[in-house]
Amino acid sequence: MKNHKRAWAGINLSGLEKNINTIKNSLSGTTEIMAVVKADAYGHGETEVVNKLCSMGIKYFAVSSLDEAINVRNITSDGEILILGYTPPEYADELIKYNIIQCIVSEEHAAELSRNAVSPVRCHIKLDTGMGRIGLKFRTVSECADCAQRITELENISAEGLFTHFAVADCDDDENIRYTENQADFIKSVYNELAGRGIKLRHVHFLNSAGAGYHFDEASTLARIGITMYGLYPNYPLPLPYEICPVMEFKAVISYVKTVESGDCISYGRTYTADGERKIATITVGYADGYSRLLSSRGQVLYKGKRCSIVGRVCMDQTMIDVTGTDAAPGDTVTLIGRDGDDEITADELASWYGTIGYEVVCGISKRVPRIYR
Ligand SMILES: *Cc1c(COP(=O)(O)O)cnc(C)c1O
Repeated sequence: MKNHKRAWAGINLSGLEKNINTIKNSLSGTTEIMAVVKADAYGHGETEVVNKLCSMGIKYFAVSSLDEAINVRNITSDGEILILGYTPPEYADELIKYNIIQCIVSEEHAAELSRNAVSPVRCHIKLDTGMGRIGLKFRTVSECADCAQRITELENISAEGLFTHFAVADCDDDENIRYTENQADFIKSVYNELAGRGIKLRHVHFLNSAGAGYHFDEASTLARIGITMYGLYPNYPLPLPYEICPVMEFKAVISYVKTVESGDCISYGRTYTADGERKIATITVGYADGYSRLLSSRGQVLYKGKRCSIVGRVCMDQTMIDVTGTDAAPGDTVTLIGRDGDDEITADELASWYGTIGYEVVCGISKRVPRIYR
């Protein structure tokens, strides 16, 4: 680590543990956490995150694809793993081999999976109750239940659950609150209709992080928790009813320091020209590390607890910052995401500077940035 200090992401696994405990305490009834570890655990590192969660007794995991599911299966032999998205029906045998639960995206998908399988594939049926992405989409509860029932009757489909995804659970205006409630009401009605027909599915779930935080409902047997477990907000800066701490920090070092004079230009495109004497530092991070080029002349970093502005364009591997008034020197560490002294830059705040969300920032920290666990 010392020899290769360039840009790195520190992952605070005890922060993850704290967040999980906070979220767990906020759930009541029998609702259990399903930890969403897709996209390399939102960039935090699937192996270490899943190991940590297993050690805490988490039993349910959600991923986005078969490849991710197999990776998680290789970490935990007894965890329940749900693929949230599409898997081509020709992989039915792999789903069975690795004991993975597949999301049914449509009736045709279920029929094809059943046809391709040699024994029952474990499934959760997805309903599109307003997200408009995947799942059975019907205007009435009874039509939707009819379709779900046909799926449960397929020879090689073992339906164990019904789920849906909220579109606006992170919004606090009345119209969106009503929209979310309607989504929850619809899936609960379909579930109860099926139960009335003698089809008792083990799981029905519709809570994501925002749902669990703002619309908790113990009728949801699972809460699919992603972003809040990593200490970020579903809709920054809208507060959550509990406190969470960011799990990832992102650091780089100063490689070079110089004093520029009025008229001197910095970086590609000469988009920054000094209007007087400034002290400029070069830091060892760029867009190939997932430090977006959209932060050019827009972002800030922390140096010894003080905010320093990015000047000129972010390059592939290097970026320049204004450190005027500091004693910045080559070899010093700068904080791109994280706490330094009395100040903190979160992935959520950094995202807000260029019009995206914390989710995209942490998922986007690239492979070449080593994750350091503590
Ligand atoms: C990604 C995802 C989640 C987790 O969402 P967060 O907002 O990170 O909690 C839950 N459910 C589905 C279907 C998802 O795709």
